[in-house]
Amino acid sequence: EAKQQGRNTWQWYQGDVQRITRESVLLRRDLHTALRDDQFELFYQPIVEAVSGRLRGLEALIRWHHPERGLVSPGLFIPLAEQTGQIIPLGRWILERVCQDIAHMHIRGLRMPVAVNISSLQFRREGFMDDVKQALETSGIPSNCLEIEVTESVLLDGAEQAIDLINQLKAVGIKVALDDFGTGFSSLSYLRDLPIHKVKLDRAFIKDITTDIRNAAIVQGIITMAHHLDLIVVAEGIEDRDQQHDLIRRDCDLLQGFLFARPMPLDAVVSLPEVLPVSKA
Ligand code: C2E
Ligand code: MG
Ligand code: MG
Ligand code: MG
Repeated sequence: EAKQQGRNTWQWYQGDVQRITRESVLLRRDLHTALRDDQFELFYQPIVEAVSGRLRGLEALIRWHHPERGLVSPGLFIPLAEQTGQIIPLGRWILERVCQDIAHMHIRGLRMPVAVNISSLQFRREGFMDDVKQALETSGIPSNCLEIEVTESVLLDGAEQAIDLINQLKAVGIKVALDDFGTGFSSLSYLRDLPIHKVKLDRAFIKDITTDIRNAAIVQGIITMAHHLDLIVVAEGIEDRDQQHDLIRRDCDLLQGFLFARPMPLDAVVSLPEVLPVSKA
């Protein structure tokens, strides 16, 4: 059947588009009740010191337990939630939950900066700062326990607004990291202009860092420049020891990836060791 259809690429393509569109219509519909029905959960992925593997922080990553489909990837539903505007109530829920989870970690003796991803739509919306303050107040955690990750798309409506907001966050003790750096339309001048404290190198650069010398050159360039600008550099998507050693050699500060740990539920996080052993695979 596939072979027959394969003769007509257009038909193939059209079929795909229809399937994907139908899927997103259904998912979009289900998103509306997901929050009410408590189907979301925050997972946490460790971020470690490159050289020692010592636990230095966590990134909150949302998971959707769909009643029929099982786990749906945020890469799939976050863009849909952005299209429908659902990202606003969902984003608020995420902020509240992450602060509650941090409070829980403190009770269990784990004190670590926790980063939360903020959609540009949510970030640029009036009232965002109030939502942050509200979440902090309700949970009672100190504001410097929370970090925020944004991508360069926060600059879409003009840099001044974004810079102003990042400065407001800084003023209350919340640090901001620039996520997925190197993809999209990243410009080097963002590193200079944005009052961020950290830059996260996208996995796309890390994937073949040990084999692609051109990628490696870009990574090295970004690390060196970021350090000259007093920024901390995190590499995402570390899956093997060769990548770890390569990035240590290039003076990358922090690493995040399956080599150390996958994103995990809150319960698992509180029993993590101080130094993460690397997985054998
Ligand atoms: P991100 O913020 O860049 O998060 C890193 C992604 O890389 C996560 O995917 C993480 O599971 C994955 N990852 C980490 N280490 C490895 C590795 O070694 N190998 C591979 N293959 N992947 C690795 P995840 O959890 O599926 O999230 C995807 C994206 O969805 C995130 O990218 C972020 O843009 C968005 N997202 C996730 N949670 C949230 C959230 O709470 N709010 C918002 N607005 N966006 C979120
Ligand atoms: Mg992130
Ligand atoms: Mg990222
Ligand atoms: Mg990403």
